[in-house]
Amino acid sequence: MSRKPRITVAGAGALGLTTALALADAGALVAVYDPFPQGVNASAVAAGMLAPVFEAVLDAETRAHFDLMLAARDLWPALEARIGITVDRAGAMAVGDAAFLHAADAGIRKLGLHPTELSRTAMVGLAPGLAPGLGHGLLTREDWRIDAGAALVALRKAAEAAGVSFHPRAADGFEGAERLVIATGLGRDLAVMAPLLGRLAPIKGHILRTDGAPYDGIVVRGEGAYVTRAPGGLTLGATMQVGAGDLAIEADQVAGLQEAGARLFPSVRDARITAQTGVRAATPDGLPMVGRGRHHGVLLAVGARRNGWLLAPLVAKIIVACVTEGDLGPYAARLDPGRFENK
Ligand SMILES: Cc1cc2nc3c(=O)[nH]c(=O)nc-3n(C[C@H](O)[C@H](O)[C@H](O)COP(=O)(O)OP(=O)(O)OC[C@H]3O[C@@H](n4cnc5c(N)ncnc54)[C@H](O)[C@@H]3O)c2cc1C
Repeated sequence: MSRKPRITVAGAGALGLTTALALADAGALVAVYDPFPQGVNASAVAAGMLAPVFEAVLDAETRAHFDLMLAARDLWPALEARIGITVDRAGAMAVGDAAFLHAADAGIRKLGLHPTELSRTAMVGLAPGLAPGLGHGLLTREDWRIDAGAALVALRKAAEAAGVSFHPRAADGFEGAERLVIATGLGRDLAVMAPLLGRLAPIKGHILRTDGAPYDGIVVRGEGAYVTRAPGGLTLGATMQVGAGDLAIEADQVAGLQEAGARLFPSVRDARITAQTGVRAATPDGLPMVGRGRHHGVLLAVGARRNGWLLAPLVAKIIVACVTEGDLGPYAARLDPGRFENK
């Protein structure tokens, strides 16, 4: 950039921080605002899966966008090196009854990939503690994962080192900058400047963490639950409660998720559990709104639904291209906020 533009980023979740860092690396003067700098947001509770394959296979709204999700995942190695975290590339395994595995197998093949069929012995080697009734599994090495909490810390540290300033309060507007990137998750404070924020709907998610018995296996995806490793235990996710935007822990949701998890790992039934909730922001078509808003100087980076971590580097890349007037790349049109104008 010939002259350093001043940019305010509202929101310090996965999208805001990744974008702020990328803008600073591109030469902008960036200030990040967030009233909850310690990360009270969806990004902090997320499981951290970077999962283009199983998201496309198991989530109907993601199915048509495998190419975009894969392209986002492929930007992670550069971000990994930039912020100094480790992306876990061990892969993910689908387990379940014959019908579930048949559908997963067909779904993976439809993406042009070939899952590895696993014997019970191989499955237990990859996922110690797996329920005895689970005799077959399907492995893909294309799905990766990060530790979301560690990534938030690393992103902030890298951004600070790149000159980004942090302000522990909500942004009211441009805050004196020429551009405003709105990455406020489900937050609506800035809707006057970006009426399209009104198109976002909440999807609440419960996620459970066990402690006491460390799990060092790969990601396991089953019916109604997935399991990933977590510091000192495992993570069990996640409910999808469309329309709910509160953070209250609901006993019935916790019990249902714990039961689904126990069908994968019986030890979960008696484990010490900590429940957390987060609220995902979703657009009507399931893809985020990324790019120029209707108001001059306003850019949107919101609505990543259940794949905000996966999509973060792609979102950041598109926002940088908007600011530098560079090549927006092949995916920007699909994410353009303008697709919801007058609809
Ligand atoms: C249970 C659960 C599990 C998930 N698992 C995964 C997963 O495995 N992989 C994956 O890719 N995604 C996952 N997700 C989805 C992912 O967490 C979200 O898509 C992503 O975190 C969204 O990031 P964000 O930056 O848009 O929003 P958020 O993380 O919600 O951050 C928005 C921030 O904006 C701030 N804010 C609000 N208003 C203002 C204002 N006016 N000024 C300044 N700041 C403001 C808020 O305080 C908040 O910190 C999961 C989500 C949940 C709930």
